This record gives sequence, structure tokens and C-alpha cells, in this order.
Amino acid sequence: MSVDELTAQRDRARQDYEALVAQGLKLDLTRGKPSPRQLDLANGLLELKGDPVGADGTDLRNYGGLNGLPELRAIFAADLQVPVEQLLAAGNSSLELMHDAVVFALLGLVPGAERRWADQPEIAFLCPVPGYDRHFGICERFGIRMIPVPMTPDGPDMDVVERLVAEDARIKGIWCVPKYSNPDGSVYSDETVRRLAAMETAAPDFRIFWDNAYAVHHLTDAPAEIADVLALCAESGHPDRAFVFGSSSKITFAGSGVAFFGSSPANVEWWLSHTVKRSIGPDKINQLRHVQFLRDADGLHEHMRNLAGLIRPKFDAVDKILTAELGGTGLATWTSPAGGYFINLEVPEGCAREVVAKAKAAGIAITPAGATHPYGDDPADRTIRIAPTYPELPEVEAAISGLATCVRLVGTEKLLAG
Ligand code: PMP
Repeated sequence: MSVDELTAQRDRARQDYEALVAQGLKLDLTRGKPSPRQLDLANGLLELKGDPVGADGTDLRNYGGLNGLPELRAIFAADLQVPVEQLLAAGNSSLELMHDAVVFALLGLVPGAERRWADQPEIAFLCPVPGYDRHFGICERFGIRMIPVPMTPDGPDMDVVERLVAEDARIKGIWCVPKYSNPDGSVYSDETVRRLAAMETAAPDFRIFWDNAYAVHHLTDAPAEIADVLALCAESGHPDRAFVFGSSSKITFAGSGVAFFGSSPANVEWWLSHTVKRSIGPDKINQLRHVQFLRDADGLHEHMRNLAGLIRPKFDAVDKILTAELGGTGLATWTSPAGGYFINLEVPEGCAREVVAKAKAAGIAITPAGATHPYGDDPADRTIRIAPTYPELPEVEAAISGLATCVRLVGTEKLLAG
């Protein structure tokens, strides 16, 4: 664009922004929450049918059953790619399980470890960026140094990962959201999974935190398949390398779902040796209600298709509006994920914070710029996470159109400034 064209664009963006502020909007795209209509589709969960008894006759009202209901684990085992006997069903939050895994490794000896993580002068985790802020929050809480690694459409840049883990025994883990990643929607390629499983690590107790939060959250008719990380780790001679996490938070009720932990037999035994001290058993009545509601893996997939019917139009609207308002301007690129909960918007370097601030001033709350990076610091200041699931479609449309106006305003001003 010539300076004259750019100035004209900037002036138009200024007018549009003034009009936007005058609308007095109050919209929120900050967190990836299910919408009330999505939650309504799971209302069958509120009802318990028949006696509260497990398939094996256990009275589920009582204590016990630390591993979780076998019939619920059987529903999720194939999608989470964990043999049912190595998959545990726990409380309502997988984030809680990830937090516990870190704490158990800090305070106990994870299989293969020579020392407890807490007894090592310094430990670090690899953090593919952009990534999930709550993963980073766990590291920050426990003083685990975070090392950013760039994401590619196929997963983390494996050349970087392999080099770092080979040379530095302080690196104990990597955060991975392998399918429809938060926030860029990437799906790890088979080659990425194979390399993660096979790579040589200086730390004998290195762990992949495999947060498969969006395992069944497809938005197209072509569900993404990823390679089986536990099987590949075992084949490569690193059977204990991966901890698999999942949950039904974005399947049934976000606050009252069921979370899952899966791993090698040795890791599962280690996990149970800690959790047995922590709890006399999970909420098996909630687990039974999930079994009754989902029925089986086919029932789970059918429910996910119904949810996709509510979510897909919002993702399509974001893509359509961004294309109409920002396509061809050179001011932004964005992802068009085939599943999951997020869209990643990249704006010109040095603009993300300002765009989010301008949107906020216009009544549109966006996830803080930087949240996608360790310590809340996106050095290029260009990544913005869009979470379109919670608001209704007209609100998503208004918010994205307003956000695009902010990108045009901040982007053109930045280009004109230098
Ligand atoms: N992992 C990822 C990648 C997520 O995006 C989320 C929810 N935003 C969670 C975990 C949280 O899962 P849960 O509700 O099971 O704690």
C-alpha cells in the first residue's frame, strides 16, 4: 500500500473505531467456555436412572474405586488411545491432574528418576508457543523454568525440541496439546509424535504431558487422527515417557465433567501410590451419570456431532468476517482449525497488546495478549487468542467485526509510524 492508501485506510479505521465505541458493546471472548446451549445438550446428565450400582454390582454411593468406573473408562479408552486398564477416571478437572502430576514428581520419585524434582537445583519444561496459559501457570507456581519452543502446523518444532532435550538434563518435561491445539488448532503429525517418543533425552525421567483435551472435538466431517503416543513410546524403549490427560469438561458440563489420566503400567502404579493417600475414591455417581448419558463411544461421537452443530457456525463466522475485513490487507493472519475451541490471530509485530486494549475500550473483552506465552510475555507482541464458543452467534459476529476494526486501526497506525 502507498502512504496515501495507508493514510486513507487509517482514517477509515479511525471513523469505524469511533462508531464501534459509540455502540457501547459489552462482549466477552476471553475464555473457551461451552455456551449455555451446548450445556443444555448435556442436561440428560442431571438425572440418574435406576439404582446407583456399577456394572459389577458395586454400590457407587460408597467410598472406594480409586481407578474410576471401568464402564466409563471403556467409553473413552479408544479416543484417548490408552488401554482401558491403564486409563483412570478421576474428578472433574484434568488441569488438577496435571498439577498433581507435577507435584507428585516434585515430591516423589517418578519412575526412572534418580532424584525427586524438588531436590534438583533447577528444572525446566519445554513450552510450545503459542500455548495454554494454565499449563504455564503450573510451571510458574512451582518455579519450573519455561523454555518456549515454536509451534508449526505439525506440532512443536522437533529440531529445536530434540536438540534441547538431548543436551540439558534439567529439562524434565514438555507440554503438548496434540489435537486441535490451544490456541492454534494444530494437529501433531505422526512424524512429530514418533520423534517425541523416540528422541534421546539427557534427563532419564523426562515426561511428555500429553493433554489431549480436544480428542473428540471435531468441527468437520473428517476427524483428525493422531499417532498413539503411549504405543510409540513403548516401541522406542521409553515406555514411561508420556502422561496422557483428558476430560469431558468440553463434552458434558465444564464444571462437572470427568477427567482422565492414562499412562504406562509403571506410571499408573506410581500415580495410584500417590492418589491413594489423597482420596478414598472419585465421585462415582457423576461417573455413572456420564455412562448413562453417553452410553458408549458411538454415543459420545453422536453427542460431539451435535455440539459441533452449535460451534461450527461460530468458527465459520469468525473466518468469514476476518476474511472480509482483513483479508489481503497484510495486517493479520489467522488459523481455520478443524476442531477444538480456539482460533489464533496474528497481527503485525508490536501490535497485539494495543489491539486488545483498543477492543477492551470498545467493550470487547479478549484474552490478554501474551497469555499464549510463558510468563505472559509474547516477545513479538503479535499473538491474540480468539475463543468464540461461549457467546451466541450475533455476539460473536459483532465482537469479531469490532476486533477487526481494532486490528485495522492499530495496524495502519503502526505501519504509518514506521
Ligand atoms: N487443557 C486444555 C488444553 C484446555 O484448553 C483446557 C480448558 N480450557 C483444559 C485443559 C482444562 O481442562 P479441565 O476442565 O479438564 O481441567
